[in-house]
Amino acid sequence: MENHRELGEILSRIDGRGFKAYKEIQGRYVFKAFNLFIDHVQGDPYSTPSRIRVRVERGRTGFGPDLTSNHSRTTAFCDFLARQFYRNCEECAKQERGIGKSGLVTIDRPQQEILEGTAMVVTPDHVEVRFFMGLPAFGRKIAARHARAMFFDELPRIVDHSLFLSRLDLNEIRQHIEVSEDADALRGQLDSLGLVGFVGDGSHLPRASGIDPRPLGKGNVVPFSSPDRFRVTVSLPNRGAVAGLGIPKGVTLILGGGYHGKSTLLNALELGVYNHVPGDGRELAVSTAGAVKIRAADGRNIEKTDISPFINNLPFGKDTRAFSTANASGSTSQAAAISEAIEAGASTLLLDEDTCATNFMVRDVLMQQLVAKEHEPITPFVDRVKQLHRERGISTVLVMGGSGDYFAVADQVIQMTNYAPSDVSEKARTIVETHDTGRRNEGRGDLGGIRPRIPVKKSFNPFSREGRQRIKNQGDRTIVFGNTRIDLWDLEQIVHTSQTRAMGRAILYAMQYMDGERTLEQVISRVDKDLDEQGLDILMPFVVGDLVRFRPLELAAAINRMRTLEVTQQA
Ligand code: ADP
Ligand code: MG
Repeated sequence: MENHRELGEILSRIDGRGFKAYKEIQGRYVFKAFNLFIDHVQGDPYSTPSRIRVRVERGRTGFGPDLTSNHSRTTAFCDFLARQFYRNCEECAKQERGIGKSGLVTIDRPQQEILEGTAMVVTPDHVEVRFFMGLPAFGRKIAARHARAMFFDELPRIVDHSLFLSRLDLNEIRQHIEVSEDADALRGQLDSLGLVGFVGDGSHLPRASGIDPRPLGKGNVVPFSSPDRFRVTVSLPNRGAVAGLGIPKGVTLILGGGYHGKSTLLNALELGVYNHVPGDGRELAVSTAGAVKIRAADGRNIEKTDISPFINNLPFGKDTRAFSTANASGSTSQAAAISEAIEAGASTLLLDEDTCATNFMVRDVLMQQLVAKEHEPITPFVDRVKQLHRERGISTVLVMGGSGDYFAVADQVIQMTNYAPSDVSEKARTIVETHDTGRRNEGRGDLGGIRPRIPVKKSFNPFSREGRQRIKNQGDRTIVFGNTRIDLWDLEQIVHTSQTRAMGRAILYAMQYMDGERTLEQVISRVDKDLDEQGLDILMPFVVGDLVRFRPLELAAAINRMRTLEVTQQA
């Protein structure tokens, strides 16, 4: 039975009344083509818009089972539909319908990455879209005529144009799904191919600008082309054979003159832990799921992190096996970032000299002569990077144009010249053999284990001073957790605000696994397993459309940056 008329009747009845009367429209309405759920009505025209869902029976959409035959395809298909919905909202929703957010119809904004999120849910039974509407009001009085236009005119048009095969291009849908499925397959093959990353020939890596992740205009781009020595051919389920640069495990150095494309290549690898939309240019730039960008972040908080592989003998005998500070230096922050990433399960470290602490990276022969080792707490990364691979199986890809000391420890060296990579491994080796700088390796002894830490549950408090639970995000780099603000500015692999939102909730969710015995890594693994098995909805007590999947590595990093965090080290 269609009952959407009821919605129209309520709207007529509450027309012109105070905004709060909108609460009466909460509920479920049956339209001709879909079911409408008005889950939550906003408190006033300026607050977060109302949460709305539309559900269409799968059988009526025309979408075949092949579009959702595995997790990879389902994620990409949902992403495709969400993009259609987003675009149609932009086109169909007439925004000027009163004060504040009046007239807004929108869905969580898609980025260049194809991400698992809650905005679009496709099951064998239905297609459900979760979005936001700004209910219209003038002077805080309900504008029913506008509300009717939104619910009975704009919304059905947006739904019709977004969620039915007859309105969409099946080839475009298939391409979106297949590109993403290929990227997943490629990522899945890297390990057995002995690689940590892959960049397909013909890739377009540079971005439109430092704040615009869309591709740089086509005419200005030098397409990527692998040096022969590192060219690998992989076989993908949809595209078939694809050739490109395979970055082997071990220590890889990327060097070259300034402005020749080094950082652009590394950035592509950083975000290669995600799949990219067709046309992005990085569809075949893929890195292993455990690749973590490491950078200096002075000023951050560190809680009992074992940084002893890199830093020892601090002034006042401060213990670096359990190093704490409320104000890290560049080098200690970078050492902590590496230890914490390893502790959380990272398999590959990505570093760019642009964002590294110099004294953490290098200590040249002249400095070794002036400042004796016993007066320098830092064992520079150059003397540990090989050990990391040999002893812990952790690879490093490092952009370093400023110091040749790394030649001696690199397994392969790639030079960027006018945005073209070439293999200079042999040249670098010859230079090392014929130029003895007299520099001494300071990486004495084994790396040793990094002591795992156990989070103390009582140091997590989701309640504000007023005693209300408060967990929210501010933009994509801040989580507010109770009275604590968690600053994530240095986590460069967060790509979506809704990942940050979801991580805030995940910290609360993770508390159930903090029993005084599980390590931080074990806690985040449990959360990740639950998300795999039950989906992102477990993070919220009610349905929302703005949660996006994050990696356990970022969740650990967020917890590590919480200034109230307390841990004990495992004995
Ligand atoms: P580096 O780290 O070597 O100093 P960047 O990677 O920052 O250099 O690149 C310098 C500039 O060149 C950036 O503006 C970047 O967008 C642009 N760029 C990078 N790769 C390419 C390419 N393949 N084609 C055209 N421009 C590029
Ligand atoms: Mg650079």
